[in-house]
Amino acid sequence: MQLDALYQEIILDHYRNPHHAGLAEPYDVEVHHVNPSCGDEVRLRVSLDGDVVAGVTHESLGCSISQAATSVMTDLVLGKPVAEGMTTYEKFLELMQGRGSVEPDEDVLEDGVAFAGVAQFPARVKCALLGWSAWRDATAQALAASTDGVSNA
Ligand code: ZN
Repeated sequence: MQLDALYQEIILDHYRNPHHAGLAEPYDVEVHHVNPSCGDEVRLRVSLDGDVVAGVTHESLGCSISQAATSVMTDLVLGKPVAEGMTTYEKFLELMQGRGSVEPDEDVLEDGVAFAGVAQFPARVKCALLGWSAWRDATAQALAASTDGVSNA
């Protein structure tokens, strides 16, 4: 199978069967992000346990790339320390902004490598980054709320 075809298949699998879809209770923060250039929307909930991503769920509307990228993102951050998720985001962002010149690191990005081809279409890069921007926003809010709250000491 050609790499492009394999990548296409990975994206379609996530689109048809999105991971961690459906908004879970309880949660720390909910955000709603839109990508007006394509009409994509994501409603995303995050819960943290200390600095670990304990929960991330979403309801996504829009194109296959945005929905699949959000599904892949949940796999990459769930159960990981927030800092590790942010590092993974930076790797994904680097891939997306590389216009096809960046070799994806499958050890870090897992199914995220399937979006390598999307990097050649600047209009679609926003689709692939929508779920990630929602996660980063929700996580930053959850971290801020936890440091404002009662000390664990
Ligand atoms: Zn889109």
